[in-house]
Amino acid sequence: MSNLYSQYKVCSLCGHEDQRGISAEIAAFEERRKWTEACSKCGNQEVSSSGVALPELTKELMEIWSRDDSLSFYEQDEDICLAEANNIELLLEFLDSNNTLASKRSMLLATLCVLIHDNVPDDEQDDSDINIEVANRVAGELKKRIELFVELDTSLIMDYIKELAYPQIGVPLAGM
Ligand SMILES: [Zn+2]
Repeated sequence: MSNLYSQYKVCSLCGHEDQRGISAEIAAFEERRKWTEACSKCGNQEVSSSGVALPELTKELMEIWSRDDSLSFYEQDEDICLAEANNIELLLEFLDSNNTLASKRSMLLATLCVLIHDNVPDDEQDDSDINIEVANRVAGELKKRIELFVELDTSLIMDYIKELAYPQIGVPLAGM
């Protein structure tokens, strides 16, 4: 079976640290990895700190995520968190899959635009981490799928992302 991922929380009252191991299918999703049990020592509900080891993004996890609107890897800034060059193949595969919910395809499109944004030189950001080859590759893939910018919900794509990413893909900025 799959490996377990460690999670801990420290009680704000007595300082006791509770630990547990959870499966990748639990650890990956913010709604599932929430740990609401009281301190095992004193019963206090409040924690002073907590943490969890997160699994790598895999095809198996993407399959769960892509078909369930109630699950997110991250509740906030999911597009920014998923925008890693290592994820490009998976992002494209599930963007193209008929089994992926439209809401999730919209999130994947937003994520790919973040990847372009983060790898295009820009006066306002530190350019030390950019990789223009990543931006060019993703822009090339999205050019082939330009109709998605009409079909899917682009409101998830933040304006500052659009301003840098859209010109790379050839999507008009007007009326965004
Ligand atoms: Zn306690």
